[in-house]
Amino acid sequence: MASEFELIARYFTRETTHTTLGVGDDGALIAPGPGCELVISSDMLVEGTHFLPDTKAEDLGWKTLAVNVSDIAAMGARPRWATLAMALPAADEAWIAAFAAGFFACAREFGVDVIGGDTTRGPRNFCVTIFGEVAAGAALRRSGARAGEEIWVSGRPGRAALGLAHLQGRTVLAGPALADCIAALQRPQPRVALGLALSGLATAAIDVSDGLLGDLGHILEQSRLAARLQVAGLPAPTLERQAWLAGGDDYELLFTAPAARQPQIAALSLSLDLPLTRIGTLETGPVGHIELRDASGEPIRIDGFGYEHFAR
Ligand code: ADP
Ligand code: MG
Repeated sequence: MASEFELIARYFTRETTHTTLGVGDDGALIAPGPGCELVISSDMLVEGTHFLPDTKAEDLGWKTLAVNVSDIAAMGARPRWATLAMALPAADEAWIAAFAAGFFACAREFGVDVIGGDTTRGPRNFCVTIFGEVAAGAALRRSGARAGEEIWVSGRPGRAALGLAHLQGRTVLAGPALADCIAALQRPQPRVALGLALSGLATAAIDVSDGLLGDLGHILEQSRLAARLQVAGLPAPTLERQAWLAGGDDYELLFTAPAARQPQIAALSLSLDLPLTRIGTLETGPVGHIELRDASGEPIRIDGFGYEHFAR
């Protein structure tokens, strides 16, 4: 295996576009724009926990950065810089080259300069710290939701969990649905344009990484609210519904906004060519409690999904 320094030079040192000092010194130098705050977030991906050992290196490279970009999107910020700390077994260089190709494809797509990191030998594990910029005071926080506002979700949640279920032999997908769900799992598309547009429009936001109900729970906890969900297109009570409600890895945005913002949100959905679906309302009530009803208004028990902790 090439030395750590050769690997860094060969695969992880690329030109930057907006960085004072990047890879190669003891530290990087960055300068946020005037009037901006930095948003900082870290996410680690561990083999066996966050990805299957046989995941394609290029997909894994994409996803390692994409899940971090998604956190910046959920803050309503613009992703700008990232560092990559990684442990690799005595792995082949072809694997590392493919990982780097996916990682830098995502960096290019979302305008991220890679400015440093750390490289060491060990069980495969990748930790990114990402830095974003947002106009001072404009970040979307989990705590900003108010009773009476509406709850929205982007895209079509549940596809990544279905893709994983297929790979693990818990369901069988075929044709376009298979391709769609595998793409959602392996090449998540962080909703950066949506997040930027929502700053000023939404009152709170979170990216759906641990399942829609669980992540809604975080907004409810931090905004001290309960929720009533009524979902028109909720899938039948099958694995599909379970994936929609509780599946992880979607990286869609869940956000809240006053009802008066509906026209702007509908217009945004058109201009971004991205479904934005109103799924419920925020209520005063036991903090964190989620009441779920199907399209005909019938209550759906959600403790069957392993989220008993909401029924406090
Ligand atoms: P130090 O010994 O000072 O910690 P390193 O040898 O770990 O420095 O790293 C040398 C340079 O390479 C630093 O700028 C560091 O940020 C960068 N670097 C190390 N690993 C990576 C990586 N996987 N991706 C990008 N930059 C990296
Ligand atoms: Mg180091």
